Amino acid sequence: MQSKLKKVIHPPEFLGILGGGQLGRFFTIAAQKMGYSVVVFDPDKQSPAGKIAEKHICKPYNDLKALDELKASCSAVTTEFENVPAETLKYLEKDIIVRPSSKAISIAQNRIKEKDFLKKCGIPVGPYVVINSIESIKNIDENLSIFPGILKMAEFGYDGKGQIHVKNKTELEAAFKTFNSVPCTLEQKLNLDCEFSVVLARSVDGEEIVYPTFWNSHKSGILETSSIGPLRTESLIASLNRRFIPSTRTIARELNYIGVMAVEWFLVNDGYWVNEIAPRPHNSGHLSIDACVYNQFDQQVLALTGNDLKQPEVEFPKSAMLNILGDLWFRDGAQKEPKFEMIAGLGGKLHLYGKTEPRIGRKMGHITILGLREESHEDVLDRCESIRKILWEN
Ligand code: ADP
Ligand code: MG
Repeated sequence: MQSKLKKVIHPPEFLGILGGGQLGRFFTIAAQKMGYSVVVFDPDKQSPAGKIAEKHICKPYNDLKALDELKASCSAVTTEFENVPAETLKYLEKDIIVRPSSKAISIAQNRIKEKDFLKKCGIPVGPYVVINSIESIKNIDENLSIFPGILKMAEFGYDGKGQIHVKNKTELEAAFKTFNSVPCTLEQKLNLDCEFSVVLARSVDGEEIVYPTFWNSHKSGILETSSIGPLRTESLIASLNRRFIPSTRTIARELNYIGVMAVEWFLVNDGYWVNEIAPRPHNSGHLSIDACVYNQFDQQVLALTGNDLKQPEVEFPKSAMLNILGDLWFRDGAQKEPKFEMIAGLGGKLHLYGKTEPRIGRKMGHITILGLREESHEDVLDRCESIRKILWEN
């Protein structure tokens, strides 16, 4: 039930989004399907969302005049990524609705603040130390088994960028200098059993919906495949219900979160840790576009506009997603178009994001593999692997 006092934004009003990458593009598509118009704010002229939105403000995030234009264009704004300056969000928040809030984003966009926040909530994070000076490197306790570790810039990292693996203090110091001595976290490199993400949407009324758990596999710090499907062990199911999902809900509540967020989890032996919070829809959640009636971007629009959320209604409980990176365009020393026609027989559903320039490590699209009734989760993963192989071998 909608509460009578709640202000709901109705179509065809304009909604704003900061960032015009693929996440912004899927947001735009979801909003437009519901009858809204979209204004994208992104400095890139070629941004995938800017190309399809009703309006594109093509200016830097700290351009106050352009931000005033955004305020005049729409009544509510959300963001597609955490690297928008919190100051930008604060500036907008003075006059229009910003969901999630600048406060929530400012925590999720800084690894040091994020870990402090998680610890305060009683949620476990992996072993780490804050590195903010050469002094802090000298002070690392040699007995602390933090090496081999990963030095991560506290801000502005994504897709494994802003991270350097280090084996000792000497390498750490060099890596810290490479990052121009900006504040960082040094995290112990964990021997991960598995990674998964819990994607949750939370409404203005505090109503929450949770997507099926996405099981993730990364290559060089970038998500390669995600899948939903039956779990391997009973104990993992129990842990999900007892720990991971309730903890994800706690994070959302403590952040007073309105919108879609994902919590990335690590499992190591019997231990489990939050890796990071994504204050936005998540790459793994792209599976929901084809596998669910209501996808994560639909919920982002519903939460932003003050509407009630929808249950995801999973139509394909066994499915997988394969990310398509720009690397696929660069094989055998030459640039060539991938032969997507060759996977037609395997039933993968191709999404391309409209990026004109492929680059190594750049997310260009994804393929969803929807499990047929008679297929097992393993069959779906096999089909995903066959698609990957065909694309790479042709
Ligand atoms: P990003 O913001 O780029 O997603 P993450 O911190 O999530 O950065 O790191 C990307 C990936 O790198 C993770 O999903 C995981 O596969 C790997 N990774 C990150 N931190 C660790 C760690 N402490 N131990 C082992 N692997 C890690
Ligand atoms: Mg991550």
